[in-house]
Amino acid sequence: MILDGKAVSAALKADLAQKVKALPEKYGRVPHLVVILVGEDPASQVYVNNKSRAVEAVGFRSTTLTLPSDTAEDDLLDRIRELNADDGVDGILVQLPLPAQIDEAKVIRTIAVGKDVDGFHPLNVAALWQRMPCIVPCTPKGIMKLLASAGIDPKGKRAVVVGRSNIVGLPVAKLLLDAHATVTVCHSRTADLAEETRRAEILVVAAGRPRMITGEMVSEGAVVIDVGVNRDKEGKLCGDVDFDTVAPKASFITPVPGGVGPMTIACLMENTLECFLNRLRGQSPE
Ligand code: NDP
Repeated sequence: MILDGKAVSAALKADLAQKVKALPEKYGRVPHLVVILVGEDPASQVYVNNKSRAVEAVGFRSTTLTLPSDTAEDDLLDRIRELNADDGVDGILVQLPLPAQIDEAKVIRTIAVGKDVDGFHPLNVAALWQRMPCIVPCTPKGIMKLLASAGIDPKGKRAVVVGRSNIVGLPVAKLLLDAHATVTVCHSRTADLAEETRRAEILVVAAGRPRMITGEMVSEGAVVIDVGVNRDKEGKLCGDVDFDTVAPKASFITPVPGGVGPMTIACLMENTLECFLNRLRGQSPE
């Protein structure tokens, strides 16, 4: 069965749009997300446009700051500090990757924790690993919602995550662990990847390698979540999973596009609302 991220995310966004209607009367305004794009990377431009469109569709306020690719690190950090101090801004997202002259870790640390809609700030990460209230990174959060939407409970299951990035692999492994799965995390130095992936009842792949997971690497009945967004040699959009050989064996599988991607965007909207409410209720860790 296909795990239809587009449909689940549409339902989530419709629910958010409904909630937003009550906000102006209660708080005098709607949540405001500022997205910063540095440079002209075409994929980043597409992501930023998608995010702004979704922000406006749910009824939030959206601002996109586009800075030239030769922006100095200090200038970007100053812009972020201004936004941190601006009471009319609830969420700040700096689109990654950044040009080489800018230190991503420094940028992430500079965003106020209470406005960190991506959940990448070290204090949010620490809170996640200590099971404290935090902003959960959008893609892992979206994956867990997608599983829940199909009634898939990770409890007691063998979950295998391919990839150990701060953005996807590690946080999704932690969320699966919190949901009581037994989790294995694989990476580029894993000795026998196929042996690990074949043991998975839930397989999450976030490696950024076009169609690397093939049918013989997956067990009959596995739930397969494909996070990858790649272009193959013909320039066609594809995931990290070879859909044609894996789908016949999987009990559930996400398509690319239309699986995890839309869930990420919907969760960004949810995180923006969460930051807005935390700030107005004085619960923000700023
Ligand atoms: P990173 O490049 O940061 O991490 C990739 C991870 O995969 C690393 O941990 C790496 O291992 C591991 N890896 C790479 N090659 C192999 C291999 N041959 N075997 C086993 N492990 C391997 O990528 P991200 O986590 O940021 O993104 C992963 C993919 O997900 C990309 O295609 C990205 O575009 C996509 N993505 C999609 C999103 C969505 O909303 N749909 C959101 C975010 C990302 P090691 O640590 O050893 O280097």
